[in-house]
Parts: sequence; structure tokens; C-alpha cells
Amino acid sequence: MKCEDCGVEMNHHADKIDYNAGLDDPDRADPVYGGVLEEAHTCPACGRTEVRAAAES
Ligand SMILES: [Zn+2]
Repeated sequence: MKCEDCGVEMNHHADKIDYNAGLDDPDRADPVYGGVLEEAHTCPACGRTEVRAAAES
């Protein structure tokens, strides 16, 4: 994914599990993790961070 501010390709630096999202929307929750798996991306140019659901990649 690209940074919305400067168009630089962002670095995928971490995965996290959003347990609250799984509670709100159980259909999206991963049955193994018990939450929604998300990818955290950081822009190397401006430091902007974005988090998105891993399934949307
Ligand atoms: Zn940026």
C-alpha cells in the first residue's frame, strides 16, 4: 500500500490482532486468533502509519 500523504510505498512492519473488532463484528474475526488480524504499515518518508485488515491485501 502507498502512503496517502506522499505516495511512497509503505513498509509492512507488524501484524496485530484487534480483539475489539472481533467482538463488534464476529464474522470478520479469525477463529484461530479470536480477533481481526490487522497489518500495520509505516511510511518511511513521513512516518505516517496505517492499519488495515489483513484480508484486504
Ligand atoms: Zn508518507
